[in-house]
Amino acid sequence: MSENPQPLGGNDMPRFAGPGTFMRLPGRSEPSDLDVAVVGVPFDLGTSLRPGARFGPRGIRNESMLIRPYNMATRAAPFDSLRIDDIGDVATNPFDKNDSVARIEAFYRELMTNDVIPISIGGDHTIVLPILRALAEKHGPLGVVHVDAHTDINDSQFGEKIAHGTPFRRAVEEGLLDTNRVAQIGVRATGYAADDFDWPREQGFRVVQVEECWYKSLEPLMEEIRAKVEGGPVYLSFDIDGLDPSFAPGTGTPEIGGLTVPQGMEIIRGCFGLDLVGCDLVEVAPVYDQSGSTALTAANLLYEMMCVLPGVERRD
Ligand code: MN
Ligand code: MN
Repeated sequence: MSENPQPLGGNDMPRFAGPGTFMRLPGRSEPSDLDVAVVGVPFDLGTSLRPGARFGPRGIRNESMLIRPYNMATRAAPFDSLRIDDIGDVATNPFDKNDSVARIEAFYRELMTNDVIPISIGGDHTIVLPILRALAEKHGPLGVVHVDAHTDINDSQFGEKIAHGTPFRRAVEEGLLDTNRVAQIGVRATGYAADDFDWPREQGFRVVQVEECWYKSLEPLMEEIRAKVEGGPVYLSFDIDGLDPSFAPGTGTPEIGGLTVPQGMEIIRGCFGLDLVGCDLVEVAPVYDQSGSTALTAANLLYEMMCVLPGVERRD
């Protein structure tokens, strides 16, 4: 096997130039030759309010150009430990939500014929359902760490069973989750009824409302969350609207009073040691954020996810 794929360095090609892949990875690998595959899922037909997450993968890849390979805080060097590359985008159908979901599911089912961990760049949160279907088929029922302003357990939206506010309800119904190993962190704001948070608790989820997170480090919480979700394969799903809109305004359904960027980083870093089998970062809609900070934050959070995957060694 050849040397691990590496991001193109800023001393070999200026940071503002070079390939448009995530972190300027080579983008030439076959999934069969990888431990980790970065996948773009440009899709927003499941969005209920502001559209634009179809531009998430492109915006996030663009803002990932500055990220360097070594994590100064955790000492993780993911590209030394694992074979990681950007394998491009799912060919979604911009005219058809349900066909797009079928295409995403088929893409991930094919991808999961390889022994690979997908890191997905959304796209709205609808995409997690076809991804969970493919991953649960391979690994069995999954534990989940879900960061979000919303629990995404609606039964339907405007009569649609598949939308960005329903994926975790469908995932429970379809038996994709090990429901006693699921945590939802950062949920808040207004709802239609108490059921929005009661239903997931009735399923066995740990639902952490954002008020429980305000003004504190989340390191102690993540000890509890690790104990809750460990014991089997775990999926990490990070909706950027879990963060406060002052940090991440570029999203479709912003809610005030959200998590800080350091708290988001603590949640991801707190997943180190879990048997992570896949991760995503969803709901970035760059058009609502002229500074690009939402996509920049998302790109760095995706890098932090790479740093906590099984098999990543921490360099001295
Ligand atoms: Mn969501
Ligand atoms: Mn959300």
